[in-house]
Amino acid sequence: MSLQALLNQEELFPAVTLTPGEIEAWRQKEPLSVSQWAERYRVVTDGPWKGEWSNQHTPYLVEPMDAWGLPHVREVWVIGPLQGGKTQIVYNCWAYGQHYDQAWALFVMADEKSAVRVSKERLQRIIKASTALRELMTGSPLSLGNYELHLQASMTYMGWPRSEATLASFPIPQVFLDEVDLWPVPRKDSMDAVDLAKARTTTFPFSSKVLGVTTTTLEDAPGWENLVKCQEVRVYMAKCPHCGGLQIMHPEQLRWDQELTGQPDRIEGEDLAWYECELCEGAWGRLERRLAVQEGAYQPHRWDSRAQWWEPCQPVARPIKVGFHFSAFHSPFVSLGKIAAQFIRAGQEAKAAVTLYNKVLALPYRGEQAARSDDLILALCDERPPGLVPADAVLLTACVDVQRAGFYLTIRAWAAGPERDSWLVRAAYLDSWAAVEKVIFDDHYRDPEGAGCVIGFGLVDSGDGAMQREVYDWCQANPPMRASKGFQKTNRQPYTQAKVDTHPGLVCFHFNTTYYKNDLLDGKLRIAPGDPGAWRLHSNWPDGEPPGGGHAVGLLNDYARQLCSEAKDERGLWRNLRRRPNHFLDCEVLQLVCADYLGIRYMQRQEPDQEPEPVIQPITRSHSRW
Ligand SMILES: [Zn+2]
Repeated sequence: MSLQALLNQEELFPAVTLTPGEIEAWRQKEPLSVSQWAERYRVVTDGPWKGEWSNQHTPYLVEPMDAWGLPHVREVWVIGPLQGGKTQIVYNCWAYGQHYDQAWALFVMADEKSAVRVSKERLQRIIKASTALRELMTGSPLSLGNYELHLQASMTYMGWPRSEATLASFPIPQVFLDEVDLWPVPRKDSMDAVDLAKARTTTFPFSSKVLGVTTTTLEDAPGWENLVKCQEVRVYMAKCPHCGGLQIMHPEQLRWDQELTGQPDRIEGEDLAWYECELCEGAWGRLERRLAVQEGAYQPHRWDSRAQWWEPCQPVARPIKVGFHFSAFHSPFVSLGKIAAQFIRAGQEAKAAVTLYNKVLALPYRGEQAARSDDLILALCDERPPGLVPADAVLLTACVDVQRAGFYLTIRAWAAGPERDSWLVRAAYLDSWAAVEKVIFDDHYRDPEGAGCVIGFGLVDSGDGAMQREVYDWCQANPPMRASKGFQKTNRQPYTQAKVDTHPGLVCFHFNTTYYKNDLLDGKLRIAPGDPGAWRLHSNWPDGEPPGGGHAVGLLNDYARQLCSEAKDERGLWRNLRRRPNHFLDCEVLQLVCADYLGIRYMQRQEPDQEPEPVIQPITRSHSRW
């Protein structure tokens, strides 16, 4: 190469002095995902997470971080419980962005105080504790301020709704939004702040990143709204160590000894609850729950606002906006006992229910309906103790819902006539066929005069097939009881009887669940307790009145909750999308099939005879006779 050529090249490409930051920016970096980066470079400076970052205990935090780091992903929303580590996702992604992208960043917090605190107690410490980030410090003690953090080639601004940093208009490629649903400002202000902050990134259409992480409150809160607007929402599912089934954990599957129900503090303090797999009914103790979370995975779901629960859906190819949802069930810092205690308290007071939904389950709270309908059901209670048959009754029927773990049973008394007046005489959960036989055939049910009443007919749900043979065998041996099976078809007859080929002489009642659920849920349950045809229940309290201390749990609270477990979808079908227990509902649906089969509505009421009508004792609370 000639001297002239060299000179020309010098002119064309003048030597530049690179700053250390630029050198760092241009340096080839090992390709690491955010979660791998965090395990190598992130040190947690305080709290239960203190020490070198590890993905092991919180596997559900890995995918949200790594999704944010994918080149094609522009926006990630994470909704999680209060204690679950979701804020660590923000810190890890931000730190990664500082190291790998030298990205200018904006942090938007609830208010000035939180912004300063996070800058001082989190971000500044994260920089100083990380070997990778420490190298990027400018050397000036003033660089890491409370409102702005300078590194050699990047800058992080701290903002809050209506702050200068948030309202400014210069472009920022990486925006982090923390706890947007808890900001103590009007919803419109937080919405504006979220939109403004997001708008800052539009100048970087192929490299910008928005990360919003929050505990939620209501469905129209900005965080939840942004979550459900994502192209794909992934919900964390635990994997049963017994059967391998993936499931979204929910509090209705929590179990504890029944006698502890009045002592949520003890369940919490001594961690006395366990979880029951909704697929195989296997028990998850502390160890199994940890395994279930470790082996869990995110799966795409759609939020069904009507049912207030998740519905599985198809994945989206290369989504640009991705949402993630997990709950305290996955957090190693929240025990099952603590969640169970909160669940019990939520049944007693609305405030605890809000905490359960928002801070534990990380779901929006839409309280009144559920609470209101439970109460509506309990308003049907009269003052009869369980076991007492009203004087007007002409028939007793028993219906059983068979589960692998046990039996739900209701006994109802019916009055003759077109109104189909009826009274719940007993509702029970039992765990053996022997117990079912005792309750149906041996226990005494008496009317106010002390005369015994026998159960003349009943139906047993043969269920999903697993228990079918057992149910057929049992019904064959106990003739007043018949097998039954429900079908969710709107065009079927209300019920038909079918021969069972394997069991000569046995018939199985096939019934239309939609027809009878309409009859019960849209019909009977709407009749006021004092009106003809009402669906009356026995007293909710053993002695007719709620106890003073509020410790005892109402006899029918569980029954009432189960009767509210289903909602009608747009096709007119009853669905239990929250997968709440609905066994007593199934029993009561069977009761209406019994009433139709027995022709209750065509029976004549007994006219008073010539003799003077016997004086019927008013039903009082002194029920020692029964
Ligand atoms: Zn299982």
